[in-house]
Amino acid sequence: MEPSPRPVGRFAPSTTGEAHPGTLVAALLAWLDARAAGGRVVLRLENLDHTRCRPAWATQMIDDLAWLGLDWDAIVDQEARRADHEAALDVLAAADRLYRCTCSRRDRSGGRRAPDGGWAYANTCRGRTLPAAGWRTATEPLRVRLDDGPIALVDEGGLELTQDPALEMGDPIVVRRDGVLAYQLVVVVDDDAAGVTRVVRGRDIAPSTATQVAMQQLLGLPTPVYRHHLLLVAPRGGKLAKLHGSAPASELRARYRGDELCGLLAGAVGLTEDAAPLRPADLVRDFSWSRVITRDVVTTWAGSLTFDS
Ligand code: GLU
Ligand code: ZN
Repeated sequence: MEPSPRPVGRFAPSTTGEAHPGTLVAALLAWLDARAAGGRVVLRLENLDHTRCRPAWATQMIDDLAWLGLDWDAIVDQEARRADHEAALDVLAAADRLYRCTCSRRDRSGGRRAPDGGWAYANTCRGRTLPAAGWRTATEPLRVRLDDGPIALVDEGGLELTQDPALEMGDPIVVRRDGVLAYQLVVVVDDDAAGVTRVVRGRDIAPSTATQVAMQQLLGLPTPVYRHHLLLVAPRGGKLAKLHGSAPASELRARYRGDELCGLLAGAVGLTEDAAPLRPADLVRDFSWSRVITRDVVTTWAGSLTFDS
């Protein structure tokens, strides 16, 4: 029997602000998933959206993750991967999959609710062509025409993700009006280029997975194993929202040592009983997804972190 290849995982934060506890939990889980299987793990800084990303946040992200005790086999700067992203767009253009979307924001709202809570795009502009001089000269957003029909998909944790992405989400934007190359395209190109075999990420991204699998099929790329995990959520007027800027890493670092915060996070997701200080490496031997709780964890920060699960 062929030895099975070493798994490759990744953590792919957008560098749009400081890490928060949810970022750190996602990093820890992706890292443990790979390390517990003797695998490699890559940190990819998702920084293409120059309207929201700053180099200082990328630098700080690297430092905060190291402070927590995480190490990486490679650190990928997404901006440096432009040539590969353009090559994928060339493939899609040659296959006649790209089209200009001339819809206004108003045209795009209403209609069908998408599984991610936004509006599904009704593929209104399908049939429009690219500029004669090629996709690089477009001044409108470009979308990719997906195949119609369902993508059958259940993630490794049993989360049912079967979806007809062309209908339920709509054809995704791959080049924004301002020229920024969009997430749904670059994520699959970059995962493939890094040899990623296991994508471990928060449940908030699960509604995009079928779109990404459809994109892999168009580009002839293999589909990795997917697993979507719990989120840390903030209570807000009785409703739970993804925990965002409320507990920035700079404040967490002023309050805790790295091993203290790592212990708290490990306790919050079910990996330890006592939440005692430890390093990520101490969790590798006994790591198992069966020990990670699946429900979201309400998190509050008022000078100290508390978790209510
Ligand atoms: N960069 C995306 C985010 O931070 C995640 C990408 C992914 O894990 O696929 O939400
Ligand atoms: Zn349109």
